[in-house]
Amino acid sequence: MNIKEYFSSLFKGAHSLIQGMEVTGKELFTKKVTEQYPENRATLEISPRFRGTLQFIYDDEGYHKCTACKTCERNCPNGTITITTKMVEQPDGKKKMQLEKYIYDLGSCTFCDLCVTSCPFHAIEFSNDFEQAVFRREALVKQLNYLPEKGNRPKPVVAKPAAAPKPAAAVEKPADAKPAADPNATQPAPTKPAAAEKPVAADPNATQPAPAKLQPSEEQTPKKED
Ligand code: SF4
Ligand code: SF4
Repeated sequence: MNIKEYFSSLFKGAHSLIQGMEVTGKELFTKKVTEQYPENRATLEISPRFRGTLQFIYDDEGYHKCTACKTCERNCPNGTITITTKMVEQPDGKKKMQLEKYIYDLGSCTFCDLCVTSCPFHAIEFSNDFEQAVFRREALVKQLNYLPEKGNRPKPVVAKPAAAPKPAAAVEKPADAKPAADPNATQPAPTKPAAAEKPVAADPNATQPAPAKLQPSEEQTPKKED
């Protein structure tokens, strides 16, 4: 290595060092994106589409929509879902199959979402709760219908008695409205005045035979004067 090559490599090394220090210097003044977890757990934002764990969808009254059709169990490629059912007697005496236990093994789930998309009743969904770490593998096996008795109960229907009086009142109203609407209707109105106009028009035309009776009486009177 001659003196020229020595200084050339020296300047290249200094230039590379300055470029690296420029990148480091910029990061000193840029906004920090590091998440201080778990200190920021209260303000931590997780994507709503993140699939953390499978869960039932409960309404405000604590009812779920699962009918134990086992479609999700058949579509799960890993055997993650195990559904047990039971026969329950209905108030009308008929027996109906209902959900007993919905077992979900988080440890074998690949979060493919096939169970959610194949459910015909939109009864399950994925929660974005990412804190699912446990100390035992058995703790990853969960029963999703954690309100089994209330969820299996048939939901009461309240709209039927309220809808019954509406058609009864609707039938009476048109019956009363029909006679009131007839005089105002166009069909009977033209018939009545037409009948009233006919005798009026017939009177002037009928006066011709009437004066015919009077003419002989008037003709007799001048004959007497003569
Ligand atoms: S979650 Fe849906 S697909 Fe699975 S058993 Fe219940 S109703 Fe059927
Ligand atoms: S997400 Fe996929 S693997 Fe997990 S329970 Fe549903 S169907 Fe099975």
